[in-house]
Amino acid sequence: MSTGVAILGAGPAGLGAAFQLARRGLGPVTVLEQGATVGGTAGSFPIEGMRADFGSHRLHPACDARILADLKELLGDDLLLRPRHGRIRLQRRWIHFPLRPLDLALHLPGSFAAGVAADTLVKPWRRAEPGPATFASVLEAGLGPTICREFYFPYARKIWGLAPEDLSPIQARRRVSAGSPGKLMRKILAALSGVGRFYYPRQGFGQISTRLQAAARDGGASFLDHARVVRIERQGERVGRVFYERGGELESVAAGQVWSTLPVTLLLGCLDPAPPEAVLAAAAATRFRAMILIYLVLDQAQFSEYDAHYFPEAGIPITRVSEPKNYSAAATPADLTVLCAELPCDTESDAWRMSDSQLGELVRQSLAAAELPVRSNIRNVLTRRLPHAYPLYRAGYEKHWETVDHWLGRLDNLLTFGRQGLFAHDNTHHALSMAYSAVDCLDGELRFDRRRWHDCRRVFESHVVED
Ligand SMILES: Cc1cc2nc3c(=O)[nH]c(=O)nc-3n(C[C@H](O)[C@H](O)[C@H](O)COP(=O)(O)OP(=O)(O)OC[C@H]3O[C@@H](n4cnc5c(N)ncnc54)[C@H](O)[C@@H]3O)c2cc1C
Repeated sequence: MSTGVAILGAGPAGLGAAFQLARRGLGPVTVLEQGATVGGTAGSFPIEGMRADFGSHRLHPACDARILADLKELLGDDLLLRPRHGRIRLQRRWIHFPLRPLDLALHLPGSFAAGVAADTLVKPWRRAEPGPATFASVLEAGLGPTICREFYFPYARKIWGLAPEDLSPIQARRRVSAGSPGKLMRKILAALSGVGRFYYPRQGFGQISTRLQAAARDGGASFLDHARVVRIERQGERVGRVFYERGGELESVAAGQVWSTLPVTLLLGCLDPAPPEAVLAAAAATRFRAMILIYLVLDQAQFSEYDAHYFPEAGIPITRVSEPKNYSAAATPADLTVLCAELPCDTESDAWRMSDSQLGELVRQSLAAAELPVRSNIRNVLTRRLPHAYPLYRAGYEKHWETVDHWLGRLDNLLTFGRQGLFAHDNTHHALSMAYSAVDCLDGELRFDRRRWHDCRRVFESHVVED
């Protein structure tokens, strides 16, 4: 049997692991990726001479220091530190995001400000709703009803397609970093000291991934693109060969360790023989929310000065529109710009089946409704579909996920990690942190320390998503 590591998926998690393994001389390492290029959801691709990402992507300064140091070394001058410059539409007014004291004073609707102030004053006396905690109850207890009603709840309905009361409280704890008026105030004050910044690679977010790949390759890792994993042989509590389709052929690789960053439900479907019925049933109840990214190529140099616009309002189906050029302050191409609109949906929905031109029209109308009309010619519309954009934390999902996670944890030489692999609503720096931690758990003989991994998993649970 080979003693190497097969890594399934070349998003940041798979690449981070390949990079660290190669750097430490552990291997051999083979990375199987179904796509033509690396980066997964954090990749980039060209549109008419520009680089576009899969929705708004930034590297957050909260990134672990040792990972950030590596990325700085890999990207050099190409890793830009940029000021955040976005806007949220609140009661038909635009509020700067990140929040700024002066902007809030000038633009925050009076009724909203009064509501938040009143909520903050009565907070010590607010009583929790009876019954089990939900996303709605946790946020209402922390932030008060005004911010929830006007921002978080309508936004949540669009992103996850569920009522806030039907979402798990974990969604609130993992996703909302400003979970109390005090934390919100600290964020506002932090913006004054320049904290509202992010790292962004000059050639698009995907440059992080291409640099990690190049370094892993230099260290001896091999990459197979267009290699879609379809079957993983299992003998009891060990996995054996990994089968993948490539160029119409079925091929396979054997490895001592199989590290998967695939959507965990897809991984379970690849195992042969299949997991027990109870595990498959739990996997069927472990659902992802999909997203369509709709790119409008406009005949104008710049659509707006803002990097992203956020739309919590129920009447506007898209949640966010970003302008990739503004992320790196790119001046070229001089005669066009691209907008990227994010439309969360389900793969069974009508939206998922819409044509590109229908989706382009939906975005045009949404922007007009938000008083941001597209005035220039729309040269082209193209789309990208993400069937596994967000793990869906429906109330009660925890018991299904625990069943899946517990069963997978019994397989000796199979590890699942990354955003899709651990069903975690995580940022890129979290996915990289999982990858680095996984390599830390491996010794020179490729023995994996499960107890140490268990401790790492505890740390991962403290990850809070940054927008
Ligand atoms: C709209 C949106 C905006 C985001 N914004 C940010 C942001 O601003 N900042 C930030 O840090 N993070 C952001 N994220 C999160 C970020 O994209 C993820 O954290 C990151 O991509 C996770 O990396 P990963 O390697 O775990 O998973 P992925 O990037 O999903 O990689 C998984 C890889 O597995 C491959 N794969 C799947 N199935 C198979 C198969 N059968 N065979 C072979 N390969 C397969 C896929 O092609 C993919 O390359 C955002 C995510 C979304 C959806």
